[in-house]
Amino acid sequence: NRLNNDFQFIDVGRQDPQKKDARTRSREFAEIYEPYKPQDAASQAHRCLHCGNPYCEWKCPVHNYIPNWLQLVAEGNILEAAELSHRTNTLPEVCGRVCPQDRLCEGDCTLNDGFGAVTIGSVEKYITDTAFAMGWRPDMSQVTWTDKKVAIIGAGPAGLGCADILVRNGVKPVVYDKYPEIGGLLTFGIPEFKLEKTVMERRRAVFEEMGVEFRLDTEVGRDIAFDKLLEQYDAVFLGMGTYTYMEGGFPGEDLPGVHKALDYLIANVNHCLGFEKDPADYVSLEGQRVVVLGGGDTAMDCNRTAIRQGADSVICAYRRDEENMPGSKREVANAREEGVEFLFNRQPVAVVGEGKVEGVKVVRTRLGEPDENGRQRPEVVPGSEEILPADAVVIAFGFKPSPSPWFESVGIEMDERGRVLAPEKGAYPFQTTHEKIFAGGDMVRGSDLVVTAIYEGRQAGEGILDYLKV
Ligand code: FAD
Ligand code: SF4
Repeated sequence: NRLNNDFQFIDVGRQDPQKKDARTRSREFAEIYEPYKPQDAASQAHRCLHCGNPYCEWKCPVHNYIPNWLQLVAEGNILEAAELSHRTNTLPEVCGRVCPQDRLCEGDCTLNDGFGAVTIGSVEKYITDTAFAMGWRPDMSQVTWTDKKVAIIGAGPAGLGCADILVRNGVKPVVYDKYPEIGGLLTFGIPEFKLEKTVMERRRAVFEEMGVEFRLDTEVGRDIAFDKLLEQYDAVFLGMGTYTYMEGGFPGEDLPGVHKALDYLIANVNHCLGFEKDPADYVSLEGQRVVVLGGGDTAMDCNRTAIRQGADSVICAYRRDEENMPGSKREVANAREEGVEFLFNRQPVAVVGEGKVEGVKVVRTRLGEPDENGRQRPEVVPGSEEILPADAVVIAFGFKPSPSPWFESVGIEMDERGRVLAPEKGAYPFQTTHEKIFAGGDMVRGSDLVVTAIYEGRQAGEGILDYLKV
């Protein structure tokens, strides 16, 4: 019997879902991985060793019951697997697509020690995609509605995580977002080659069926006053993200041809989805020599967007080495296959050009002593300056918090970096300094990951239930 093979992990190697070839995929804004066939998902899931105290589960920020749903997939029991995976995760099909599994669940899989980790992320994606295609929907039949309602600001992963917990416990979530679609950065930041927009469209329909109400195209603080929400609702959750552009602080950053990463990506998404308000926002890098500065997920998305727009060449310059890049290893490999050239240990010191970008001046670095976060600091190698010729430069150094002007007047306190104070271990998890207001995701922890935002939104949802005594 196939399910009794204790040596499946040796007999069957790790096999990721098939990828489209690099030439085809670098011309289209579409996901690059084919779905698993049922027999492949089952045989990959069956490689799991069912470790007594599974490291993967601990490392996963939402603590998914990974070995248990792998077992259900190995048995072909997809609907039960979907129920189980939704007990801990609001958007398993999204996490399966975009989590940096190499440094989370799969990085800690026991089989990573020479046999190849179980393809946890791909199986997680397979479960929900397949269950939805089979007509599965979250079971709301046991929910008893209360008379409580909660306003959620932000329809990103944190806000959706919170809405999921509340609605399943009979509390009505009303989610406000300034964008015309739900998803936050899942829709307007992360490009389609990692996460097709239909995934979040399907989720929106599912959430609405569950009883979540969305009020989109509505900016709190502009279209509706925050005080009104505070008056009208029993509690408020903030999941507003971090959006302040981090500058490089070197000369030439304001030259025409220098682009801010998120503006560039959002305009491209809006252009592709037909949400464009002003066509002048869209930047095409077709035919240009592009240099992308940075080494995280955002930089990787800019590299691969530029390739798809038909850039002549794309160089990604990063100040540490490949081992120390913050982005997912899978996405670095994908970018390289699609034609991105990486220059490691290069730190930009200026964008150069007469009236427009002509190049980026970089210096070489070597890694020195660890900084306060334990990451080795890049040190400049004297006399190592060089100029990388470029027609366009995209700066992707990350984001700082973007607190709203009304935070202080309502009594929401922040730390010295502008992150909202909402401790996990407070009286109620993720409660801010105003008792009725909770917060989570990037605006609390700083720019991080989809899965950590979901976790905090869900925990805050539990905190709100306790606070409301539901
Ligand atoms: P967001 O997703 O930013 O959502 C916040 C929402 O709040 C937005 O929809 C915004 O419109 C809304 N909002 C803000 N203010 C208001 C207001 N006043 N009124 C109404 N609505 C408001 N993470 C990964 O795990 N894997 C990846 O591959 C990955 N790639 C990324 C690529 C890019 C380009 C970027 C920028 C980030 C990436 N991340 C990735 C990080 C991840 O997207 C974020 O950590 C996550 O989306 C944070 O979720 P959030 O809910 O806190 O905020
Ligand atoms: Fe792995 Fe992310 Fe899924 Fe957790 S949510 S099992 S870390 S892919």
